[in-house]
Amino acid sequence: MKRIAILGSTGSVGTQTLEVIAAFPDRYAAHSLTARSRIDLLEQQCARFGPRMVAIRDAECAERAKQAAGFARGGGGQPGQPGPSIHTGEEGLIEAVTHPDVDLVISALPGSAGLVPTLRAIEAGKTIALANKEILVMAGEIVMESARRNRVEILPVDSEHCAVHQCLAGQDPDRIQRVVLTASGGPFRDTAPEALARMTSKDALNHPTWNMGQKVTIDSATLMNKGFEVIEAHWLFGLPVSKIDVVIHPQSIIHSMVEMVDGSLLAQMGPTDMRIPIQYALSYPERLESPWPRFDITRNWSLTLDPPDEAMFPCLGLAYEAIRRGSSVPAVLSTADEMAVEAFLRQRIGFTDIPRIIADAMDRHLAATDLTAPVTLESIMAADQWTRTFCGEKLIAG
Ligand code: MG
Repeated sequence: MKRIAILGSTGSVGTQTLEVIAAFPDRYAAHSLTARSRIDLLEQQCARFGPRMVAIRDAECAERAKQAAGFARGGGGQPGQPGPSIHTGEEGLIEAVTHPDVDLVISALPGSAGLVPTLRAIEAGKTIALANKEILVMAGEIVMESARRNRVEILPVDSEHCAVHQCLAGQDPDRIQRVVLTASGGPFRDTAPEALARMTSKDALNHPTWNMGQKVTIDSATLMNKGFEVIEAHWLFGLPVSKIDVVIHPQSIIHSMVEMVDGSLLAQMGPTDMRIPIQYALSYPERLESPWPRFDITRNWSLTLDPPDEAMFPCLGLAYEAIRRGSSVPAVLSTADEMAVEAFLRQRIGFTDIPRIIADAMDRHLAATDLTAPVTLESIMAADQWTRTFCGEKLIAG
């Protein structure tokens, strides 16, 4: 029995992870569930899955949960079993993922909130199934170095990186020519450039192929998600970004490709169903027969691949620039994007303001920072704080 802690159990990846756990009750159990503030859903999850621990980031919500009947019952609905212990704050998240009984941690908080809890889980020797790509964008060097030191495996849950992971099975990493990440292109792939500035959050949340959380859906519309994934692939597979390319593939059937030095292209394909990469990470290195819907590749599919329009979607180029500059610049990229996307979702800024704010933050940070200084968790957290202040003031000023 693998006992699983989920950082972000009420989010999109979190709820789909619980579906996978429910499909294989003899193999997986939810040991710890964590949420920021959605305690109604967390209460339902506790009643169904009977975790031993829950952590609620928001202290006020945690207090309310302590009064709620659903948490006290616990035990997966079995009478006589005590409810889960309830923890709060970042400390609570850390307790939930480092508990000695936890075997594997699903890291699925959006943005920077999962960084420290995931690092603590690595230090505690837990296998990490990583959905929170911002962790590698912000602090890839620190995370991967800690994983090496603690002999911890980091398994990608992101569908593209799960695809690359599968293509690389049995291959010599030195024989990789390049990795090609596929992007759906998001909802604005065919939008006229002059119309882009008028697009609303409702338009942007209407993703053509994948069902995901709000942050990653907006990031898909700007192509920042693909930029983050380039950085994620750089750290996960130890490749220079010059060997990582992006193609627009609107059907989202090919999840990514690896070109080897002999010219062979290996591709992984499948339905657009996040439960498949989640299940892959939970069961790795085994493969389990899954109950999810399939598609039939012998039908008349047409697959198209096109280069991305970097002038229309400048976020992709900003991500390449951030990782080439290195140091704390990718952390600024990630946090500025988090702030800009939140402002866009609240209708405070327009769609094309998102890359503008991120570029401004990067320029200002580059002008004021010594990029040759060693990267530490402190320098990353300081860059994160600086970016929050800079973007906050900028957003207030308009
Ligand atoms: Mg992805």
